[in-house]
Amino acid sequence: MVATPIGNRDDFSVRAVNTLKQVDLIAAEDTRHSRPLLQHFGIKTPLIALHEHNEREAMHGILARLQEQQSIALISDAGTPLISDPGFPLVRECHQRGIRVCPIPGASAAICAISVAGLPSDRFLFEGFLPRTQAARRERLQGLKHERCTLVFYESNHRVRESLHDMASIFGTGRPALLARELTKLHETLISAPLDALLQQVEADPMQRKGEIVLLVAGAEKKADAEQAAEATRILEILLKELPVKQAATLTAQITGGKKNLLYQEALALRSSPEN
Ligand code: SAM
Repeated sequence: MVATPIGNRDDFSVRAVNTLKQVDLIAAEDTRHSRPLLQHFGIKTPLIALHEHNEREAMHGILARLQEQQSIALISDAGTPLISDPGFPLVRECHQRGIRVCPIPGASAAICAISVAGLPSDRFLFEGFLPRTQAARRERLQGLKHERCTLVFYESNHRVRESLHDMASIFGTGRPALLARELTKLHETLISAPLDALLQQVEADPMQRKGEIVLLVAGAEKKADAEQAAEATRILEILLKELPVKQAATLTAQITGGKKNLLYQEALALRSSPEN
């Protein structure tokens, strides 16, 4: 698995170039796209195509050659193979057949963006591309609303406005975010701003909707313990009006993420208090 640059050709590692020169065959996502890069580095190895539309069929030919002891490199159009790019079924099959898979690491837009985002980088969640339709996109974002890790999205330039709009309405307009555009290229731009301000800038300046984009959004803030406990009590009180103690405590634990046994004790106390 050989990573190629995401823009700046100087990011191609010496090991990647040497490997691509030495292997018997290069499987490329788009042979026409990769040819100029390979020519630039004097790589003359034969190419075949392995893209999302022929992945299953092409894979069998590649596996047969690998089992004849040929060495084959997989590259995608840019960055690291398998990261929102083809290759997963092939790698899985290699493992199943005991064929060695070797990473030749290099650029990946997600890691590149997180390294400059100024957002917490100790834990992050790579979400890749959001669904195209608004309903599916909003549903995915709803599911991420309380996620505490920094969120990393690959974004298409013609959907960035819609995505930012949905993110601002679901995550909240003030959630810190970063738009990383054209990384390692001539027009590399980083805009760090809350979601509403980022949306305004993208709407005002068509340039910010051009090229390749990674969007990063800060994770949800942890509610203060006192605030969380107060919310759990409020939910418990409502449920206790309709349900037995055990069921009210179980449901409250599911809704709030609180500890069931502690909520059960609290529910017993609430039920026995004179106001309830
Ligand atoms: N495998 C690649 C990687 O490792 O980053 C990603 C491939 S995915 C099909 C392409 C998406 O990656 C783009 O739509 C964009 O979201 C992101 N991307 C790739 N190159 C980029 C760059 N130079 N600047 C910003 N985003 C980039």
